[in-house]
Amino acid sequence: MNILVINAGSSSLKYQLLNPETQQVLAKGLCERIGIDGKFTYKPEGKQAVKEADVAMPTHNEAIKAVLDALVDSVNGVIGSMKEIDAVGHRVVHGGEKFAKSVLITDEVMAAIEECNPLAPLHNPANIIGIKACQALMHGTPMVAVFDTAFHQTMPAAAYMYALPYEYYEKDKVRRYGFHGTSHKYVTQRAAAMLGRPIEELKLVSCHLGNGSSIAAVDGGKSVDTSMGFTPLAGLPMGTRCGDIDAGILQYLMNKYGMDIDKMLNVLNKKSGVEGLSCVSSDFRDLETAADKGDSKAALAQKKFAYEVKKYVGAYAAAMGGVDAVIFTAGVGENDKAIRAMVCEGLEYMGVQLDNAANDVRGKETVISTPDSKTKVLLIPTNEELMIAIDTAELAK
Ligand code: ADP
Repeated sequence: MNILVINAGSSSLKYQLLNPETQQVLAKGLCERIGIDGKFTYKPEGKQAVKEADVAMPTHNEAIKAVLDALVDSVNGVIGSMKEIDAVGHRVVHGGEKFAKSVLITDEVMAAIEECNPLAPLHNPANIIGIKACQALMHGTPMVAVFDTAFHQTMPAAAYMYALPYEYYEKDKVRRYGFHGTSHKYVTQRAAAMLGRPIEELKLVSCHLGNGSSIAAVDGGKSVDTSMGFTPLAGLPMGTRCGDIDAGILQYLMNKYGMDIDKMLNVLNKKSGVEGLSCVSSDFRDLETAADKGDSKAALAQKKFAYEVKKYVGAYAAAMGGVDAVIFTAGVGENDKAIRAMVCEGLEYMGVQLDNAANDVRGKETVISTPDSKTKVLLIPTNEELMIAIDTAELAK
């Protein structure tokens, strides 16, 4: 089965054509600057990438058309015709409380996704535009929506409720939703396979540490808590997001500097996190370089980040009554051995014994704890596209 996976943003669109059974990626790429000056990247398997600038892409429709044309192109194409695309899987950021699983897209589903727009005003409308563009060009091809929030819908109320007046939940749907669900689901399934145990028996802490970061407590294959909240601003400090802070700080700073809420949120989303703290960069590679040269703020940003990750690992071990394995994934989790070591340091009481030699690895499924470590530590590269393709293939069958 060939599944086209689409991740549509407001002015960009990532795509991948893959076979979830063989895990073969036939082609992948990116449409950028949609509505501006259209940049198109296409990489067929085993061949040179094609990059084109100034491609007429006034809307997502032309972007999808460019993708489909490239896939069936006589020179660089990877399929004979569009009929060889069995289904399309769309990443959708917010499914609210309506979607606890991926779903086949119908008119009713589209309406329900649109109802979730106020919860993710920057993302969901763009995802919907991507779906509509595909529907316009691919009549009769099944489409599936895979939600970032769905995996976390199993959280108990004590984990997802905020201690706010109840009416804000009832009337306004204010609660913890959590994000990165597709990634947490994928890596926890891989963890069970690596450990050779049924996922139903396992208590896992999944650390998705990238530019955006979140941690999930996954008990028996079900998310029971996660660090992101009503929005992706909550939880860990991230590249440029502050993570959890005292809400009272907002009033203090807004009054002092005459900032309105939009300006304040811009600071919290775009100028905070390890970038704000280090005054260096949001990129952990830059932090390491600066810290190695003696930059104390860069070193503090690394320490703060690792400290918060460690606190969540401890909190989620408490929430689940134990932990069988801690998983590291995403850009930082897969590549930054120093951060992994800092997180694991001092967790020996929880049965975590990092193997320093095994930890000297990047981007490869590896057990990085010692053989006698009671709690395993796993490096598992995430693969959200594959997870989307697997869900899509199952529903389209
Ligand atoms: P997102 O999908 O949230 O944009 P990624 O999961 O791709 O982010 O992670 C990107 C981040 O991963 C970069 O900002 C950088 O901080 C980090 N990263 C990538 N490669 C390395 C590396 N070799 N060492 C340390 N950090 C890295």
